[in-house]
Amino acid sequence: MKLIEYQGKELFRRAGIPTPQGVHVTTAAEAKAYVERNPGSWVLKSQVMMGGRGKAGGIKFADTAANTESLATELIGKVLKNEQNPDGEAVRSLLIEEKVAIASEAYASITIDRSTKKPVVIVTAQGGMDVEEVAARDPGALAKAWIDPAIGFQPYVARQLAFAAKLPSGYLKSFPKILGALYDVFMTYGANLVEINPLVLTESGQVIASDAKVELDDNALYKHPDVAAWRSDGPADEDQAAAVAIGLGISNYAKLDGNIGVIANGAGLGMGTMDAIRNAGGSAANFLDIGGGAQAELVKKSYQLVTSDPKVKAMFINIFGGITRGDQVAQGIVDALKGGDVREVPLVVRLTGTNEKEGRAILAAAGMHPVETMDEGARRAVDVASSGAAR
Ligand code: GDP
Ligand code: MN
Repeated sequence: MKLIEYQGKELFRRAGIPTPQGVHVTTAAEAKAYVERNPGSWVLKSQVMMGGRGKAGGIKFADTAANTESLATELIGKVLKNEQNPDGEAVRSLLIEEKVAIASEAYASITIDRSTKKPVVIVTAQGGMDVEEVAARDPGALAKAWIDPAIGFQPYVARQLAFAAKLPSGYLKSFPKILGALYDVFMTYGANLVEINPLVLTESGQVIASDAKVELDDNALYKHPDVAAWRSDGPADEDQAAAVAIGLGISNYAKLDGNIGVIANGAGLGMGTMDAIRNAGGSAANFLDIGGGAQAELVKKSYQLVTSDPKVKAMFINIFGGITRGDQVAQGIVDALKGGDVREVPLVVRLTGTNEKEGRAILAAAGMHPVETMDEGARRAVDVASSGAAR
């Protein structure tokens, strides 16, 4: 999930990275009102995912409320285009930020280096332009450091990078704290990329993040539901929103056309379960992967989510215990059913692997009897879905 600048800056601020004072607005009236209350020089920044907004005409400067209003009116709704984004991207909101007097523009980013399997920090004194351009033209201008996650980010690494990149001396005092905070954002939110370009040294000697580019790993979004909810249009669709709402990853649940609900652990087993249902002459109402190590509570919520679809006439829970423990899954099933707040449908369970015996005992105590194999489970599920037989 890519964050828009104002969202990335919110994470920066939470970690203690200085950002310009400002406000996020969706209308020209709000922009005007803000500048009326806070006279001064302001930058109007189009909030779009694409980079190179400056060159695309998406960044304007205003000194008065009237000027702010007319520029905001011009920008909101405008489609910004450049070579990388020939189709363009419509501006839906603006960040109004204090205009700072820039003495110097640097660049700092952290990504994962897949070959060393470590976060790599990249710093250059040539900020404000595309880092790929700098890399192509003047590779020696990029200073890099690989971080051992077991040790974490150490301030001396920031000092080494600042010297290697020949950052102006005005950066040195605050640079270790800012890079350390950037590393915190990277780790805390499970980012693939955090980038400050430009990291500005102001005429008055402050160092602030003038821009923010943050890309989060979708698989880490469950850790921060408040951030997951920032997805640019809300989650891309209802299924993704439903998955995130119960603590699953956005790609762990998808509604389908059939009438047999599916809960499996692992995407591969989920697909295999759907195939087994198809081989048995039926069709799945959904794909749901509860992931590894699912606890009873998540099983219960998954059960509720799947049965909330009125098409579902039977449920097939197919668990291959590895990290996931059979007793936890069984407990989740029992809890879901005794809660009374779920729609009961005929249920078929296949439970094998870790803590299988304990899981079967829990189910047996509740009057349920798991099947032995996936194919047998699929056949039973197809059967009961058409006949409405009980578990
Ligand atoms: P991007 O082009 O989409 O990466 O947007 P940026 O936020 O990086 O802004 C592009 C450029 O606009 C910066 O490199 C600066 O040169 C300029 N700019 C942005 N904010 C300010 C500001 O507060 N003061 C001044 N003087 N220039 C700014
Ligand atoms: Mn930028």
